[in-house]
Amino acid sequence: MNDNFKLDNYTRPKLELPNGADNLLLHSCCAPCSGEIIEAIAASKIKTTVFFYNPNIHPVDEYEIRKDENRKFCEKIGFNCIDGDYDKDKWFKRIKGLENEPERGKRCTKCFDMRFERSALFAFENRFRAFATTLGISRWKDMNQINSSGHRAASRYKEIIFWDLNWRKFGGSSRMIEISKREHFYQQEYCGCVYSLRDTNRWRRKNNKERIIRGIKFY
Ligand code: SF4
Repeated sequence: MNDNFKLDNYTRPKLELPNGADNLLLHSCCAPCSGEIIEAIAASKIKTTVFFYNPNIHPVDEYEIRKDENRKFCEKIGFNCIDGDYDKDKWFKRIKGLENEPERGKRCTKCFDMRFERSALFAFENRFRAFATTLGISRWKDMNQINSSGHRAASRYKEIIFWDLNWRKFGGSSRMIEISKREHFYQQEYCGCVYSLRDTNRWRRKNNKERIIRGIKFY
């Protein structure tokens, strides 16, 4: 881990894993959501591995951009970043019938469940005692929905707990943006799946805004 990250730079107190856990698997959805969390964890000297498992992201070139941004930042901090599989066929199968659900609805619950079940399995197989996700830091997300999925996934293994810290607190939300700007992270303009791309573009059309052009916008 890179030693440049010191707690003095943070308004949050030193972070500690719950239940005496000594290592963390951090499911990450993208670089902008994970930047602040990764730095805060690094400053608290928590032994952490990042797990990028997001088969929801569509299309594949968007997936590769988001993954690469995340990988590069992990390298900079000195965190190991595991590349989970791009199980897109399984993802489409899992959310079948929920294609027209709104964001934060039932489709998103299934999407979180799938990503966290895989994270919990990886944590179990690789002897991590705790897992967490970066998804909850975004104000676009329903934190209760995310935490319920996280706890459900962790409950499959008695050895593992889901760390449901509120990452938005202690300046987390604003630092997330500051770090994204400092690092010039890729700025995705929709949640990730093909349906969120469709719905965001529909909203834009209705509000006389231009369609999303992927791959060009950076903080
Ligand atoms: S809107 Fe986002 S969280 Fe919901 S299903 Fe699509 S990618 Fe998953």
